[in-house]
Amino acid sequence: MSEFDLIKRYFTRPTPRAALGVGDDAALLRIAEGMEVAVSTDMLVSGTHFFPDADPYLLGHKTLAVNLSDLAAMGAQPCWATLAMSLPEADERWLQRFSEGFFALADEYGVELIGGDTTRGPLNLCVTIMGLVPKRKALRRSGAQAGDDIWVSGKLGDAALGLAHLQGKIKLPEHARVSCLAAQQQPQPRIALGLALRGIANSVIDISDGLLADLGHILESSSVAAEVRYDRLPVSSLFASNGDAMLELAQRCVLSGGDDYELCFTAPDTQRGEIEALSSTLRLPLTRIGKIVSGHGCKLRTADGNVMTVKEAGYDHFA
Ligand code: ADP
Ligand code: MG
Repeated sequence: MSEFDLIKRYFTRPTPRAALGVGDDAALLRIAEGMEVAVSTDMLVSGTHFFPDADPYLLGHKTLAVNLSDLAAMGAQPCWATLAMSLPEADERWLQRFSEGFFALADEYGVELIGGDTTRGPLNLCVTIMGLVPKRKALRRSGAQAGDDIWVSGKLGDAALGLAHLQGKIKLPEHARVSCLAAQQQPQPRIALGLALRGIANSVIDISDGLLADLGHILESSSVAAEVRYDRLPVSSLFASNGDAMLELAQRCVLSGGDDYELCFTAPDTQRGEIEALSSTLRLPLTRIGKIVSGHGCKLRTADGNVMTVKEAGYDHFA
C-alpha cells in the first residue's frame, strides 16, 4: 500500500467545517469574527508513553484524548486536528483499529481531521488540536487569586495504578483492574467541564503529570501559593484499606502519578453552589481540595492539620 493510499483509506473523512481538508498542501480554516483559536500539540512516543504492543484502538483514542484534554483546560470547543505519524510498517489491521479508535472519539467531540504527515520510522504519534473560544474568554493558568477554592474533577491516581499493574509492579484485584486500566488506556477528556467553567473558574490546568506538578504550574503562573488537604483528595477506595505499602504507592500515584487527564481549577468561594450544580449536571465528581493563599509553593496537610512532606514531584522527561 502506498503512503497516499494509506492516507486516503484510513485518514480521509469529510470535513464540512473546514474550507479545505486533507489532500492539498495545506488545509484551510475560516474563523468566525469574535473567536480565538486555541492550538495545542501532544506527542505519544512508543516505549515512553505506551507499550509497543498497545491495543491500536485504545491508542487511537488516547492519542486524541490527551490533546482534547488540553483544549478542555482552556475552555475551548474542539474543532480540528492534524495527525503526524511515523510508522515502522503499513500494518493494515493496526491502521484500521487505530483509525477507528481515533475517529470514534473525534466524532464524539465533533473534531475533523484536516491534515497530517505520514512517514516510516519508529512508532510515534503526534496530534495538533485546534479549538475555538470567544475572544478573551479562554481559561488560563495565570488567573488564580488568593482566597480561591481549589477543585479537581473525577478521581486521581487510577491511571498510575493501572500503569503500575501493566508494568508488573503491583497486581490489582479484579474489581479495580478494569477501572484502573480504563483510566490508563482510555482517558475521558473533560471538554464539557472546561466549557462550563468559562466565567466560573479563575484558572484551569489539566492534570497530566500529577496533581502537585500541575497545580504547581498554576501557582507559578499566578504568583500564589496553595494549601491542600491530602485527606480530601478524590482517590480509589482501593487506597483506603490496604496497609502501609499501599499507602505509600497511593501517595505517589495520587500526587505525582501521570495520565489522570482530570481538570484542576480554582474559583472564588462565591461559585461553590454553581460548581456543585455543575457536578450533578455533568455527573462528574468535583471535589474541593484546598485553597489558594498568598506566598510561594504548595503545602499539603493531613486531616489533623500536620504538614506532609512529599519526596517526588511530577513526571519530568528530562529530570
Ligand atoms: P506534502 O508532501 O505536501 O507534505 P503529504 O504527502 O505529506 O503532503 O500529505 C498529503 C495530504 O495528506 C496533506 O493534505 C496532508 O495534510 C495529509 N496527510 C498526511 N498524513 C496524514 C495523516 N496521517 N492523517 C491525516 N492527513 C494526513
Ligand atoms: Mg508532508
